[in-house]
Amino acid sequence: MKTIGLLGGMTAESSLVYYQRVNEITRERLGGNHSARSVMVSVDFGEVEPHMERGEWDRVLAFMLDASRAIERGGADFLVLCTNTMHRFVEEIGHEIKIPILHIADATGAAIRKKGLRTVGLLGTRFTMEEDFYKGRLLEKHGIATIIPKQEDRELVHKVIIDELSRGIINPASRAAYRRVINSLAVRGAQGVILGCTEIPLLVKAEAGAIPLFDTTEIHARAAVEHALA
Ligand code: GLU
Repeated sequence: MKTIGLLGGMTAESSLVYYQRVNEITRERLGGNHSARSVMVSVDFGEVEPHMERGEWDRVLAFMLDASRAIERGGADFLVLCTNTMHRFVEEIGHEIKIPILHIADATGAAIRKKGLRTVGLLGTRFTMEEDFYKGRLLEKHGIATIIPKQEDRELVHKVIIDELSRGIINPASRAAYRRVINSLAVRGAQGVILGCTEIPLLVKAEAGAIPLFDTTEIHARAAVEHALA
């Protein structure tokens, strides 16, 4: 079994789920008392997040590089960034470490293709929805087109992630708002919707959708175990 390197703290709410799921899935696969071999290094989101909001990406990258190097030194065989947004730095991180990075958009793209879908909605932080690092990879590597919410809905989705879900706050009014945004994406042609922030599945359950919802935390954790056991 390979050792999974988990970069956590983005945020701790979803890092908990990653840790739980990689261990549960490993036990399901191997039985008995088996659990995942793993190293987790977590950042303090309260230190990192203000730099994200101010667009100080060099500062954010420095946190990611420090944590990634520590994970490699800790003996991990590959790296799992437990956040969609930080995949904007896969190239820079990839240059600094020797171990491979298991990309969340590749695992998600494979899950979408398995269901035969070609056009999906994308929810996530403002950065994941608006920048090209996620949508571009889905299109170029997997042939999947994405639809993002309109401006005011993007602001709402982002604000709920940062001000509520990242702090462990689950608000029924925000759940209803997310449902409305998901429905509007479906009306605009989305055959499914990517829950492209690792905290969103804490608010909206993938099983509860009228159209398929792709839980990137679950998909990524499962891909990590499959890679560890391959
Ligand atoms: N966990 C989130 C994500 O998957 C947001 C927190 C962050 O900015 O990393 O993008």
